[in-house]
Amino acid sequence: MFQAFLIKYAEIAIKGKNRNLFEDALVKQVRRALKDVDGEFVVEKTRGRVNVEAKGNFDYDGALAALKKVFGITAICPVKVFEDEGFDKLAEEVIAYVDEQYPDKNFTFKMHARRARKDYPMLSMEINAELGGRLLEAFPEISVDVHDPDVMINVEIREKIYLYSIVIPGAGGMPTGTGGKAMLLLSGGIDSPVAGYMIAKRGVVLNAVYFHAPPYTSERAKQKVVDLAKIVSEYAGNIWLHVVNFTEIQKYIYEKCPHEELTIIMRRYMMRIAERIALDNDCQGLITGESIGQVASQTMASLKVTNEVVKELPVFRPLIGFDKQEIVEISEKIGAFETSILPFEDCCTIWVAKHPVTKPSPERIRKHENFLSDDIDEMFERAVSGREIIKI
Ligand code: ATP
Ligand code: MG
Repeated sequence: MFQAFLIKYAEIAIKGKNRNLFEDALVKQVRRALKDVDGEFVVEKTRGRVNVEAKGNFDYDGALAALKKVFGITAICPVKVFEDEGFDKLAEEVIAYVDEQYPDKNFTFKMHARRARKDYPMLSMEINAELGGRLLEAFPEISVDVHDPDVMINVEIREKIYLYSIVIPGAGGMPTGTGGKAMLLLSGGIDSPVAGYMIAKRGVVLNAVYFHAPPYTSERAKQKVVDLAKIVSEYAGNIWLHVVNFTEIQKYIYEKCPHEELTIIMRRYMMRIAERIALDNDCQGLITGESIGQVASQTMASLKVTNEVVKELPVFRPLIGFDKQEIVEISEKIGAFETSILPFEDCCTIWVAKHPVTKPSPERIRKHENFLSDDIDEMFERAVSGREIIKI
């Protein structure tokens, strides 16, 4: 029944002279999203919106699912398209459409006609009145409410006739590519994929870094992170995933430093390495899935000590004020949860102390990190240069 989609966006429409840039980015992302969907699509921008029209047969469900993942879209309206063959034919089509889409006729409606083609023989107001009358005749149970209708029936007269009334919520946010680039510290947990999703939603392109510790962490744990990156990339577009071998550094810290400070010192090295790779790849910030008080390494005191090693870039922590349940809800919504809860080991948890410090002292941590001074710089460079880079 539907041959096209009308794509609505809000936030990006108010961006003044940047508007063209944003619209072009949105068109590009819509095309990217539809690339792997069966069918041939024409994507065009007109004033204040984007139109997608399928040429011939296409996978409707697949197209809709893909469009729902495009940031920058506030709403998606499936559109019935038909030839202009006179007003009677138009009215018939509208009646058939309403009958099919709204089997339960217990609703109020308003007609909203627009003429993009001014040579049409009736004015918009006349079209509204006449179509409304015919609908009421066909379905006496429905009624008109011009102020707060349940259903707004839109008819657009262009070269062809475009009819729509269904409004499906979009992903919101800003089109990918309009907000710079950031490096996500991506683990196999629940939080970091959600954190990446949230920053990507603001139009930011993602790179990601994953620290693994073979043979203590398995190939399957790494595959899980690759799978999570794929899920996030369905929204965020391509992600370069940097897989860093952290075993040597982790073991060395374990050997030289007090065990209750292991997690914090490890996290400081993760941040340092992430910042280095981020700067080498023109990223403008780091992203983590931290949330205040969730674990010992995420108390205010721990966050402060972790944060101080990042020298140039801002660290974005979009989940900082979220409860676990709120994070889980987003994780489920974006389709990551099932993968995130697969029970594979995480490099952070392998050597954790029974009683990790919750109020680390920056001075003590710095002092103990000095125990590493002999070899850590070389290990750092080896970890960075030996990383595996995967295009997701
Ligand atoms: P997550 O669910 O994201 O794993 P978490 O609750 O398990 O988070 P931590 O393990 O303390 O929390 O990690 C805090 C943040 O540090 C993570 O959200 C992630 O951004 C980053 N991080 C932790 N472990 C790794 C890792 N192995 N590789 C990359 N980043 C990591
Ligand atoms: Mg984790």
